[in-house]
Amino acid sequence: MTRRTMFQTLASAPLLAGAAAEAAPRGMPSPKIRDVQVIATEPAGVRLTVVKILTDQDGLYGYGCATFTQRADLVNEAVTKYLKPFLVGKPADRIEDTWQACYDSSYWRNGPVLNNAIAGVDQALWDIKGRMAGMPVYELLGGKCREAAACYSHASGAEIPETIDNARKLMAEGFKHVRVQVGVPGMAGYGSARNGTRVAALHDDPVFDPAVYMRRAIQLLEESRKQLGDEVELLHDVHERVTPNQAVNFAKAIEPVRIFYLEDALSPEDIDYFRQIRSQCATPLAMGELFNNPHEWTPLIANRLIDFIRIHVTQAGGLTPCRKIAAFAEIFGVRTAWHGPGDVSPVGHMANVTLDVVCYNFGIQEYSGFNDREREVFQGCPELKDGYLYPNDAPGWGIEIDERAAAKYPFGYGERGTHKLYNGGWGVIRKPDGTVIKQ
Ligand code: MG
Repeated sequence: MTRRTMFQTLASAPLLAGAAAEAAPRGMPSPKIRDVQVIATEPAGVRLTVVKILTDQDGLYGYGCATFTQRADLVNEAVTKYLKPFLVGKPADRIEDTWQACYDSSYWRNGPVLNNAIAGVDQALWDIKGRMAGMPVYELLGGKCREAAACYSHASGAEIPETIDNARKLMAEGFKHVRVQVGVPGMAGYGSARNGTRVAALHDDPVFDPAVYMRRAIQLLEESRKQLGDEVELLHDVHERVTPNQAVNFAKAIEPVRIFYLEDALSPEDIDYFRQIRSQCATPLAMGELFNNPHEWTPLIANRLIDFIRIHVTQAGGLTPCRKIAAFAEIFGVRTAWHGPGDVSPVGHMANVTLDVVCYNFGIQEYSGFNDREREVFQGCPELKDGYLYPNDAPGWGIEIDERAAAKYPFGYGERGTHKLYNGGWGVIRKPDGTVIKQ
């Protein structure tokens, strides 16, 4: 396919005065969906899924993130076996209508596999819309209300001094917000390396004791504040690993440390306990990366029980539902903190940062960076400068995918341990007595 097509020519035209009218698709035939494809690639040790929608108009196509790394093959099948036959021949320029039709077409809905599949289609249609208009998606959404998105990055260590050293390095790079995590000796901590001999347990799987972790995490936060000073914003992710009552105690104990937010103190099954945490302390609370269903986020926002909604955009169904969630949250004074780990493709990161720069109630963006192989596959990744993430200014998401490069890194590329063993899925973590914990 030639690169200088009608749409790419229009997309590169100046957007001022008469040129804008010339660039608009008005009067052109409505593009129809010709094909729906899946690009499955693993350039950074994490399975990434991108949906590519091609239209019947030469050179007009778009990409959307559909990454659910732990069950990636199922998303691929949901796209190619169910959404593709449903969508081929339908208009490519009716995003809301297409989203609602896809959402309803399975009858049972709001699960992670189907939501990711729909998100891939949804974001690809936003990409197409932007390419048609010759504008980045943030312009379609009303334009920027800030120049760039403040980000946090992850500082971790097997021991507290190592975490604090790593936090200092991130601060020196320009980050004003740093997430701190520390290992628990002999245990499988979250977000950090293990240190010391494995603790005694009645089983052979990785071990985790929530009470031991909690004491150490409180110590880490107190020490970090003391050593890093008052200016840096500290964050911490509990990763739903403690009991509801431990979560209440944890949030109360760290209130004097004045952190930016405590993340996932509770699991989605326990969200009614946020009311108890709220009644006990003013520690800011972030929740949502495991959410798939409006019945999970709606009560937390409407009752002002959290401070930050941090949904994984594709798990909620893509840009279309998430911009509504952001607007809903704005009314209740809840800020956004979209989930931005390595298991989001660069297309998904562009969707995140697009929401960040257009939504007034933006709070913070998680940043995980891109390695050289990722940049080889995805050209046009958002750029980080001095702790701020900038969206690409090219039309649509501004990202082009080198599919030959993507094929060099198939699912399983470079995978180790349980990821390799379980087709990208996770293993188990147990308490010393053998009880499985959420991780
Ligand atoms: Mg998290």
